[in-house]
Formats: sequence, C-alpha cells, structure tokens
Amino acid sequence: MKVFKFGGASVKDAAGVRNLADIVQKQGKDIVVVVSAMGKTTNALEALVRAYVDVRPEDVQAQLASLKGYHTDIMDDLTGNYDQVHYTFGQLENYLKSPVSASFDEVYDQIVSVGELLSTQIIFGYLNKIGLSSRWLDSRQLVRTDATFREGKVDWEFTSRQISSAVKKNGINITQGFIGQTEDGRTTTLGREGSDYTAAIYAFCLNAESVTIWKDVPGVLNADPKWFDDTVLLERLTYQDAIELAYYGATVIHPKTIKPLQNKGIPLYVRSFLKPEAAGTVIGNYEQHLSIPSFIFKVNQVLISLHPNDFSFIAEDNLSRIFGLFAQAGVKINLMQNTAISFSVVVDNNPDRVPALLNLLKQDFRVTYNSDVELVTIRYYDQGTIDRVMPNKKLLLEQKSRYTVQLVVKDLSN
Ligand code: ASP
Ligand code: MG
Repeated sequence: MKVFKFGGASVKDAAGVRNLADIVQKQGKDIVVVVSAMGKTTNALEALVRAYVDVRPEDVQAQLASLKGYHTDIMDDLTGNYDQVHYTFGQLENYLKSPVSASFDEVYDQIVSVGELLSTQIIFGYLNKIGLSSRWLDSRQLVRTDATFREGKVDWEFTSRQISSAVKKNGINITQGFIGQTEDGRTTTLGREGSDYTAAIYAFCLNAESVTIWKDVPGVLNADPKWFDDTVLLERLTYQDAIELAYYGATVIHPKTIKPLQNKGIPLYVRSFLKPEAAGTVIGNYEQHLSIPSFIFKVNQVLISLHPNDFSFIAEDNLSRIFGLFAQAGVKINLMQNTAISFSVVVDNNPDRVPALLNLLKQDFRVTYNSDVELVTIRYYDQGTIDRVMPNKKLLLEQKSRYTVQLVVKDLSN
C-alpha cells in the first residue's frame, strides 16, 4: 500500500486533475490518494468564514458565487457526473443561512473543511468517468480528533481501527487531507497545510510501504528558490534533518508529518507532479546528515519582549505563566531567548491571534514588540552562510546551537 498526497497547487485546474489521474494510473492500484482543496480554495473559504461571522451577507454571497464559479469551471472542463459536489454546495449554503451558533474556530472548521470535500468529489467523479474505478472515503469518519478546532489532536487508536477497516487493499482510495471529526460528529481541521499530516496518518495506520508528496518543486531544496538562485536539490534527507527543517519553517513539508513516518520507518518521497519521472527527494533512516547548509526564511514575524512589572527574574513561575498564556492564545513560538529580567519570543504575525495574545501578556508584564521582522534559520551553518544572508539586514537577536543558527533581523532595504 502506498499513500500519495496531492496539494492544492497540483489540482488547481482541470489540467491538474488530469495530471493526477495520469500519475495515479501509472502507479497501479494499491493506493490511498490524499488531496487538498483546489488551488487557493482554503484562503477563499477563510474569507467566507469572516464574512459569515461578521454578518456581511453580501460578502457571503459574493464569496460563495466565486467558489462555485471556480469549481464549476473545472467540472465543465472535465465533464462527467458531479452530483455530490452540488450536494456539498447545498449543505454549505444551508449552514450559512443559519445564525452563527458556535465559537469562531468551530465555525471555521465546519466551513473551511468543505474545500477538501469538493476537491475529492470532483476527482472521484473524474476518475470514474475515465474508467479508473475508485472509492471515495470520508476522512471525517476515519480521522478522529479531540475538539481543538483548527488544530485537532488525533485519537490514534480509533483512527487506526477506522482506517484499517475502511481502506480497500488492491484498490484506489481517494480521500481528503486536513479534516477529521470529534467523537460527537463535529468536523475539525488539523491546522493549515495539514494534508501532508493526513497522508502520514493514513500511512502510519496502514503500515504503508511509502508516502509520496507531489509538489510543484522538484523535491526538498536547501533554500526556497524565492530567495536564492542557486538552490540545490537534497536527494536524501534523514528524518531528523527533515523534521528540523520543517519545524523551522521550510514549507515544503508540514512539520507534523515526519514523526508518524519515522516511528514506523516509512520513507517519504517529495516529487514534482510536473516531472513525475524525476526521483525528487527521499526522507528516511539514513546515517549521514546533510552536507550542505539549508536556509529557511520566515517573514512577517513579531519579536515580543516581556519584562516582569515587579523586576522579578524570569524563572520557573514566570515561564510557566508565559507559556500558559501563549497556549491560551493559540500562538506558537518560533524562537525564544531569556535574560535575567526579560523574555523574548518570535512568533508569526497572525492577525487573528497576536493582538489578543498581546492583551493577555500586558496584564502581567511590560510588553515591547517589534513587528515586521524576519526569522532566518540556517542548518549546518558557518560564518560564510551567515554573511550571505546579512547584507541590508539589521541583526536584532541571534541564537546558535551546534548545527543551527537563528537570526532575527529587520530588513533595511524597504
Ligand atoms: N487546504 C488546506 C490548506 O490550504 C490543507 C492543505 O493544503 O494541506 O491549508
Ligand atoms: Mg491547501
């Protein structure tokens, strides 16, 4: 059994769906195909959630019309029978007609999860049309999570049982990434870009032979080509290097993906859907760590510094209070550093969460912050690699460990 995962970019139009069908057909039958929402659908659904929660009915209608238009164009191009898709849109419309009756995060998951239902229903319809018989599996029935909306925690025992009994061996199984369900039947999501993680969940539960993530890049590169011209394809990567790179923000793999695969020694391939014959990157149990430096840039970061009002030390009691507040606000820390009486952290500048976090922190601490900073991580660094990223940047904070350096910088060029 193999698990394939196709992200939104790979199925952003009818040509993408045809390409997926080609790749799946060539791989034979014993397969689970995990798919994300098409193109930028998840972003569009997020805008729809805001319009619905803010009670802006005209914007709700406009967002809905544009989502329908986008998916309908793809279905028209592919031709075939897509009754399920129309049904899903009907369900969504009904949901949006009723008044908001749950927390923002819960409402978010009920609406945003629709993207993956639509994409998989279209792909299922198309595969059937071209005679590739497949099964459509509902990840909500199979992936059980707790009620942490937007970041569901998986109940592995239940999920394993469900997945192993539902997936058909020697067949093509199509299912949604990113989504799950609580015990009492409310839909959850696993966090943005969580479809990779879903692929790992299926692979873990099925003891799959491998996972392949099909991307629009040739594999895992040592830097995002957005920043450097001379990037290098990493042909082999240890689980440890992969998890470190993903954790520090390399967007090529979702950070939660590696652990379940490492735990069972399942190799992870990252390959290009544009060049399916190329080998790409394989992540597995190798001895040799990376021999070249990798660079990860995270922009739009905020550097927050906390100073206890009473001049007390940053020690266990303050730290546990601080971590509690971050957890309460749902904000993840990308880097932290402390001195005797100050504690600095860098976080993503998420407009839904950071302002609320700052308010919480201000109740207990004097808070200063610097927004619009960048976090640069270099794994297997040396001074030359640091010098390479520093032109036109002001260094605000630096942290070095044996293999990794992290630089918090302000870009001076704009
Ligand atoms: N569609 C979801 C997102 O865009 C999940 C994913 O793409 O992995 O965040
Ligand atoms: Mg996506």
